[in-house]
Amino acid sequence: MTPPVDVSRLIARLDALGRIGALAGGGVSRPALTPADGAGRALVVGWMRDLGLEPVVDRIGNVFATRPGAVPGPSVMIGSHIDTVATGGLYDGNLGVLAGLELIAALNDAGIVTERPVTVAVFTNEEGARFQPDMLGSLVHVGGLDLAAALDTVAVDGARLGDELEAIGWAGEAPIGGVAAAAYLEYHIEQGPVLEAEGIEIGVVEGVQGISWTEVTLAGRASHAGCTPMRLRRDAGLAAARIATGVAEIARDIGGDMVGTVGSLRLRPDLVNVVAESAVMTVDLRHPVEATLAEAERRLAGLIARVAAEETVAASTRVLARFAPVAFDRDLVGRVEATAAALGFGHRRMPSGAGHDAQMLARVCPAAMVFVPSADGLSHNTREFTAAADIERGLRVLASLALDLAGRVGDVPRAEEIRG
Ligand SMILES: [Zn+2]
Repeated sequence: MTPPVDVSRLIARLDALGRIGALAGGGVSRPALTPADGAGRALVVGWMRDLGLEPVVDRIGNVFATRPGAVPGPSVMIGSHIDTVATGGLYDGNLGVLAGLELIAALNDAGIVTERPVTVAVFTNEEGARFQPDMLGSLVHVGGLDLAAALDTVAVDGARLGDELEAIGWAGEAPIGGVAAAAYLEYHIEQGPVLEAEGIEIGVVEGVQGISWTEVTLAGRASHAGCTPMRLRRDAGLAAARIATGVAEIARDIGGDMVGTVGSLRLRPDLVNVVAESAVMTVDLRHPVEATLAEAERRLAGLIARVAAEETVAASTRVLARFAPVAFDRDLVGRVEATAAALGFGHRRMPSGAGHDAQMLARVCPAAMVFVPSADGLSHNTREFTAAADIERGLRVLASLALDLAGRVGDVPRAEEIRG
């Protein structure tokens, strides 16, 4: 049964949240633990209270708002994030959180009492563009990263995570991992072009590919661009460019689903007539198979060593994030698929190219994801867009399955259907 969800109410909340940190010309900028993130959190938590929930904030700033069930115990948890990249859109993360609130609103409207509690979760710093690793809040929640280490994380802008969390007023008191989930569902835009290209309405996500982020620092020597012969240079900029090209060659050579990206490259002193003294760059490698990802990492290490030797620069590397591929719970994935089919929506199974909080929750409970199409496959882009009709289909899949998992008082008990 689908609770009486109202997509226009969900879209009104998406638009309102999108006005916080709105960029001129469209899109939104709410990087993790900036004042804009704080303002976004305040809006969402206000909505939670309006729905009769009592949100709790844990010590890494994750927010959990639980609608009680008839039987106390682990919740059916709906979650995602509301931080964005600096040039983000309205949908990434926000959709999953606000769809959870829409489910709560629909349950309230219909006076439905569930057997299990239903929790809406907002996880801190999912994006990882400011503080690495990404999915930090959910990683801490599941015990994959020590709280003290997480609070000591230093941002690309030099700020300490714990200080920023205090500064925006979201360092909570609740213990880490205090809210247990019987199952976790995350509703998200695809962020890629597959569903739109194939004309399919719902993506049934089977897992998340592995992610490897490395920061490469190259130290050369600044010298005059006009007076230094090529053979006598120690050009960190040239070395960085060769590594960037090499990353693409590694990805193309491995082929298939392998992708490699140099998304950040900073040169010093970054002047037209000076050979670069230093370069700091990032390499993002992803693949659904662990052995292949590890092979790409080996080749990257060889590439960096070779280029550094040939260009006479010193190279050092630092791991920013490393997560193995994750397979979601087979039974729960099957139930996402069955729900989409029962509602009459075109669907297909697919991996997620992006990392998500669901991959962390999968360590502690059955987890699964629902995808809907992204227009032009765009995400992490101010033009990110998903049409209302698509949003409604995903919302109905999420709400139907969540209610099914939570169990409606009066229905046949379903407690044995999900692992508690
Ligand atoms: Zn996201």
